[in-house]
Amino acid sequence: MNQVTIIGSGVMGKGIAYACAISGYKVYLNDLNEEILEQAKDAIDRLLDGSFKKGFLKETNYVSAKENLHYEVDLETAAKDSHLVIEAVLEKMDLKIDIFKKLDKICGAVTVLATNTSTMSPTEIGAQTSRPNKVVAMHFFNPVHKMKLIEVIRGLETSDETVQFVKEVATQLNKEAVEVNEFPGFVTSRMNCLIGNEAMNMLMEGVASPEDIDKAMKLGLNHPMGPLELADLVGLDTRLRNMEYLYETLGEKYRPCPLLVKYVKAGRLGKKSGSGFYKYT
Ligand code: NAD
Repeated sequence: MNQVTIIGSGVMGKGIAYACAISGYKVYLNDLNEEILEQAKDAIDRLLDGSFKKGFLKETNYVSAKENLHYEVDLETAAKDSHLVIEAVLEKMDLKIDIFKKLDKICGAVTVLATNTSTMSPTEIGAQTSRPNKVVAMHFFNPVHKMKLIEVIRGLETSDETVQFVKEVATQLNKEAVEVNEFPGFVTSRMNCLIGNEAMNMLMEGVASPEDIDKAMKLGLNHPMGPLELADLVGLDTRLRNMEYLYETLGEKYRPCPLLVKYVKAGRLGKKSGSGFYKYT
């Protein structure tokens, strides 16, 4: 196993590509057009340069990571020779299924197809392919270069070999894996979405300012980030899709906060758009 393809070069795809490249894998990063991929390349280069200058990366790793990274618009060229494909496109089931059906035709029979979904069902995605035993969720965390965990979610038909394979990849990426049986939102998103949504409801009710809600959670409950700054980092559009899926599958407790809906309608998507619960310049 030496080549990985990542589909989608947004917040997560860029981070996963970076993590794979510095760990020695040849990486193909795919997205819809050249312009998006150029922006992704600039961001990954900045991250590599920063890590090298700060001494987190040795020169040999820095140079080989740059050589390892390939940016490719054509899905077939990007995926046909890879042993592992990690999908990191928008949290929309139809889109994910469409991509997995294409990958199923393009990739060799041994290739493992993983989704970085935060909430959705690898069983449902796998069922649309001829290899449900080789479909699994690998849930990375944001920012990928700092966060240690990968949640490995086993679908109904996912084989032991596939789970073992992605756990070994997690080790190679210097991450820790936890294995979770499929249920909407897994462990982390189910819990985290609820905390974030409650923080948004409190803000809407005038309980406290965003700064004080976040400060209370950091200093009072020892959370490393406040729930509102974390939602801004995730992307409010992505968080809304996560909430909508959890609301559909798990019920009323997960109804998205109306303030979140309003912010997304206004185009306030968090850090990536320059404003969310906070302003970013
Ligand atoms: P994003 O909106 O930042 O990026 C999505 C990317 O997918 C975009 O660059 C888009 O152009 C690309 N894309 C869309 N359709 C495509 C297609 N057909 N082929 C190739 N590329 C396509 O989203 P994100 O925040 O990176 O989230 C991606 C996935 O990761 C989602 O499933 C999300 O739930 C999950 N996730 C997100 C976070 C987070 O903190 N943002 C954390 C863990 C998991």
